[in-house]
Amino acid sequence: MAILASYIHTIKPSITLSLANKARELKSQGIELYDLSIGEPDFDTFDNIKDAAINAINQGKTKYTDVKGVLQLREAVCAHYESRHKFSPDNVIISAGAKQSIYNAFMVTLNEGDEVLIASPYWVSYPDMIKLARGVPVVISCDEKDNFKLTSEKLERNITSKTKWLLLNSPNNPSGMRYTKTELQQLVNVLEKYPNVYVLSDDIYEDLCYDDSGISLIDVADTIIDRVLVINGVSKSYSMTGWRIGYALGSSELIKAMAILQSQSTSNPCSISQYAAIEALSGTQEHMKKSVEQFKNKRDLMYNLLTQDCGLSCAKPNGAFYLFPKCSEFFGKRTPSGIILRSDEDFCGYLLNESVVTVPGSGFGTNGYFRISYATSEEILRGAAMKIAEAISKLS
Ligand code: PLP
Repeated sequence: MAILASYIHTIKPSITLSLANKARELKSQGIELYDLSIGEPDFDTFDNIKDAAINAINQGKTKYTDVKGVLQLREAVCAHYESRHKFSPDNVIISAGAKQSIYNAFMVTLNEGDEVLIASPYWVSYPDMIKLARGVPVVISCDEKDNFKLTSEKLERNITSKTKWLLLNSPNNPSGMRYTKTELQQLVNVLEKYPNVYVLSDDIYEDLCYDDSGISLIDVADTIIDRVLVINGVSKSYSMTGWRIGYALGSSELIKAMAILQSQSTSNPCSISQYAAIEALSGTQEHMKKSVEQFKNKRDLMYNLLTQDCGLSCAKPNGAFYLFPKCSEFFGKRTPSGIILRSDEDFCGYLLNESVVTVPGSGFGTNGYFRISYATSEEILRGAAMKIAEAISKLS
């Protein structure tokens, strides 16, 4: 179409959002589905947060705010990090979701041809955001034997004179894996040698952590702190995906540039959501702790169902709300309708026909696996696992 710019053809729609739409469409036609494609918590935003938003409306806090977000929220973000690193409000920008913060960061830092290292499996949006910013995504494939994590050797091997960023996501979407302190320290040791390489640490799932004390890059990055941009937000931890509040913490120079871009694109994120986010970060954390406990139980349940009842091979994750089982062993097998499965897309298509919605690993840059979200009811998890087991038993 003549109206469209040529670069737009290089950008793909988000596979997870397309699948969620497809599942919604099928459900609206009355088709009963077990939807395991959802990338958001299944519980409602906590009441104290909703009340803060209602109060903000009633108090008329409904006008433009500082482009970077209201000072009180930026202070709340700094307070949230206080015990780990001293940030000032000038080091913080609030955006319409973590997604916008990541996008803004790439837009203001990438020159044409600059490379961004991404470990696969990766969150679906990274490569396309980098391309939109005229950069080059360099995908480093991570092995299941390393729990899908980037090793320091692989990192160093892929750094070139064009490398601008390493993009790290822990706990990871889709694998659910969180880096240990030692693993992060090893990556920092490499980054210390390359003063022109920056690191974007996407910590959006950092509160959803089940087996350890919760370490993120910021906790071991003192020697490279000027080159670190932390991304976080309230979407996942407080079930606020629709409120659209994320944030970035980094050098004041970078934050300033991101604010200029934001000022000429979307301006401040929703004022009401910002006041809700202040309550999320500064109010009681008890509800969140309870939901983490629930997620942990669901992880254990679904991991056991998938590995024992369905016989799938799957690394046990320690964060986020995803499992990333292998399906490549079914390639070459035939479905009851005679289709030979040749890819993870075929496998997920087959599961969809059997009423279970999952996401193929190739959408995350890793063929032969598929993503399951356990952020849903126990009933759906049990029903879905039964359907998956049945579907697998029907392959010949
Ligand atoms: N980063 C990762 C790894 C994600 O999985 C997501 C959402 O799925 C985001 C960032 C975006 O978060 P937000 O909804 O705050 O934009």
